[in-house]
Amino acid sequence: MKYQIKDYLRHHGFVGQTITVQAWVRTKRESKSVSFIALNDGSTLNNLQAVVDAGVVAEDILKLVTTGSCIAATGELIESQGTGQSVELKVTALEVYGTADPDAYPLQPKRHSLEFLREIAHLRPRTNTFSAIFRVRHTLGYAVHKYFNDNGFFYWNSPIITGSDAEGAGEMFRVTTLDPKNPPLKEDGSVDYKEDFFARETNLTVSGQLEGELAALALGKIYTFGPTFRAENSNTTRHLAEFWMIEPEMAFFDLIDNMDLAEDFVKYVIRYAVENCGDDLAFLEKRLLEEEKNKPQNERSPMPLLEKLQFVLDNDFERVTYTQAIEVLLQSKPHKEKKFQYPVEWGIDLQSEHERYLVEKHFKKPVILTHYPRAIKAFYMKEETEQVNEKGPTVRAMDVLFPGIGEIIGGSQREDNLDKLVARMKEVGIEPESMDWFLDTRRFGSAPHSGFGLGFERLILFVTGMGNIRDVIPFPRFPKSAEF
Ligand code: ATP
Ligand code: MN
Repeated sequence: MKYQIKDYLRHHGFVGQTITVQAWVRTKRESKSVSFIALNDGSTLNNLQAVVDAGVVAEDILKLVTTGSCIAATGELIESQGTGQSVELKVTALEVYGTADPDAYPLQPKRHSLEFLREIAHLRPRTNTFSAIFRVRHTLGYAVHKYFNDNGFFYWNSPIITGSDAEGAGEMFRVTTLDPKNPPLKEDGSVDYKEDFFARETNLTVSGQLEGELAALALGKIYTFGPTFRAENSNTTRHLAEFWMIEPEMAFFDLIDNMDLAEDFVKYVIRYAVENCGDDLAFLEKRLLEEEKNKPQNERSPMPLLEKLQFVLDNDFERVTYTQAIEVLLQSKPHKEKKFQYPVEWGIDLQSEHERYLVEKHFKKPVILTHYPRAIKAFYMKEETEQVNEKGPTVRAMDVLFPGIGEIIGGSQREDNLDKLVARMKEVGIEPESMDWFLDTRRFGSAPHSGFGLGFERLILFVTGMGNIRDVIPFPRFPKSAEF
């Protein structure tokens, strides 16, 4: 097994041994008699300091050791002489794998703006901030699989290319191999997709839920964790055109079971990150404090990052019905002072300003909103019959709202009654025949079931304290941009 800097820094047993470290150079400081090279191999935020005494390495080799270059340094690992690190490498031999011309390499040791780094997204994982973010992203992804595996869920892969266009979660990207300049046409002049690769219209999936439901009604408890695509023209800090979604779907779960699972699951993965990404999160907390230093008090985060995460772990999510939330909003100061941009009344689709008021100003913790009006939710959500609302029918929907983010999870108990589901589809203009395969779940051995979708990048935003969703995915896709 090859060791990495993370191992050398953690285990004192390496002290006194001769080792070879292969890593990228973050900085080099030189004095007359000695050079200090900060080495980072990506395994940890922390650098290993290599110390090169004058004369040990030829001048012309040492000259090539500049920020961004990659080297192999061999020597004895010793207890550190200086402060700030526990061990350091006393170099006896040094090989340069790859140079990085200081005049051309953009990541010189100074502060770069996130906007600039987004333009060089192919290099930004080499910075402290982005390597920390992507290590946290990995850890959260691992925790997702671990949680579900440990709790009896099966990992299920819904198709990426779908023939279903009725899900309605968002605008879709068409998948086609037809020649855009000269597509085959039908007699009425429209494109003849019978001639296309799949002999039908196909799109990139906006959600793996419908196929996930099929699986839940066979395997009991499943989850998907895959890419989803929405051609929504929303240039926000919370939307991507390509994002990763986690969608558990469970037979025999009602809305309460669904909420319990969502809360337990989200807390588990956050706790896992807190316990396993201490250095990275502490660094990101410092970064955020630094970034917010110049902001007015009311735009700063109310708590430092780690305290915020601990607060979420220590407190129950507030469970509130949509109708109660509307009441709160109607009584709120911004409503009375006409500060909300969008009007508040029962039946509206809550805008992000409303969600943020509820979470950040009123309840001051994560909120699960349930029982939305049927009219503003998807056709597959189960109508509530026990908790009748005089304002109009509601569905057993649940959205989880997080401070600073807004909606992080959307879910519901699903309509499991065939006739009701078909009636609802017709009402909203979906041909039941076009989704016959989906309706078979309700035709044969239907069962109460529930599920939800968690946007992975929104979770990462919350855990890392970053402000823009484009900074928590390696290569963000958004309107007018698909670089790299
Ligand atoms: P929003 O109202 O924020 O656009 P939505 O109602 O469209 O969200 P759902 O269709 O319920 O969201 O999707 C489930 C989850 O997927 C959301 O709670 C969110 O975390 C995430 N999500 C949805 N759209 C996007 C997007 N464009 N980019 C990143 N994550 C998204
Ligand atoms: Mn949306």
